[in-house]
Amino acid sequence: MAISRADCQALDDQDLLKDFRDEFTLPPGIVYLLGNSLGALPRRTAARVAHAVESEWGTHLGASWNTAGWWDLPQTTGDRIAPLIGAGPGEVVAGDSTSVNIFKAVTAALPLRPGRRVIISDLDNFPTDRYVVEGAAEALGGYEIRDIGTVDGTLRLGDALGDDVAVVLLSQVDYRTAELRDIDAVTAEVHAAGALMIWDLCHSAGAVPVNVGAADFAIGCTYKYLNGGPGAPAYIYVAPRHHDSARNVISGWHGHAAPFDFEPHYRPAAGARRFASGSPPVLSYTALNASLDIWERVDLHALRAKSVALTSLFIDLVDELCPGLELASPRDPARRGSQVSYRHADGYPVARALVDRGVVGDYREPDIIRFGFAPLYLRHVDVYDAATTLAEVIGKDLWRDEQYQRRLTVT
Ligand SMILES: *Cc1c(COP(=O)(O)O)cnc(C)c1O
Repeated sequence: MAISRADCQALDDQDLLKDFRDEFTLPPGIVYLLGNSLGALPRRTAARVAHAVESEWGTHLGASWNTAGWWDLPQTTGDRIAPLIGAGPGEVVAGDSTSVNIFKAVTAALPLRPGRRVIISDLDNFPTDRYVVEGAAEALGGYEIRDIGTVDGTLRLGDALGDDVAVVLLSQVDYRTAELRDIDAVTAEVHAAGALMIWDLCHSAGAVPVNVGAADFAIGCTYKYLNGGPGAPAYIYVAPRHHDSARNVISGWHGHAAPFDFEPHYRPAAGARRFASGSPPVLSYTALNASLDIWERVDLHALRAKSVALTSLFIDLVDELCPGLELASPRDPARRGSQVSYRHADGYPVARALVDRGVVGDYREPDIIRFGFAPLYLRHVDVYDAATTLAEVIGKDLWRDEQYQRRLTVT
């Protein structure tokens, strides 16, 4: 073989990020390749949440809104996410789910382009994005959705852009194929057509260095590569030039300029803070902030270098060990996020057979097996073990076993 397990071990010994693995609790005997779906648990999280429950809540009760900083969590947490996406203080607010933030971004962006009635959406995007665009278009009334697709990974954006387009919503990294888009080039193209750009960063923040650049809005989740925990608060970025004009349709008291004046009418707060709505789920923010303590120390360029090394190694090994398996991700690392996907007509049972052998990836319709590579806790030896196990499952037809054919609720 081109590379041995011992070679991989040697690469791990030289890995600049190797100490970060100790920050995470990983079950023994498992190669966890689902950090792109639910990030691993940081070791420090349980104690931090226990402290928030027992001391902040249990002992200090409501005083903690002031003394433990509960009230400001959406803003302080947003300010800690900002450097991971190339944003500044006051430009990001954390809260709600990604879906709700998409609704807020789309309904805030559309009225900023009066007279234009079209929203461009990518049919290959994660479905919730498209579902929410539908809901937002119906709620505001009089808008049309123009769906675009991709050809060989390239978005067919040019043909769809016209002077009727108000807003474009796209993901920086495709959740199925890990195709990585050029934020600056696409944003410039959208702006040249007079429209506003909203980026979904769910599969890019914490996976690749992100710079929102000239984007108008961006949204993303924190439970994938950012290890915030199941259902952790999402976030929204609002470009400073829109801070005074963008309106949050879920205009709740947490986004009010003076919430404790209890005025009868809504008056938005300054900055992205106006995009907060209701009381924050404090325990979830606490878990997320424990993870952000780790992210604060990560050199994102070293992260990217390791991600490229891991995904390239996996592709090389699979090329060699499973010839014929069709790569669904770009071969060029410059066009790839931190994930590698393959097409297989029986992808679901293949993914199940892998999980049974300790290689935890997943399956996405219609025929995609996904392997996410979270560079903070994965090693080159894990990549080696995953590739050799995949070769065994496919080479020996182990996936044909009856038990792998039945669908579980969460795939
Ligand atoms: C994971 C993901 C979501 C998730 O949305 P939630 O509302 O947080 O469940 C949305 N969009 C994309 C592109 C995703 O990858």
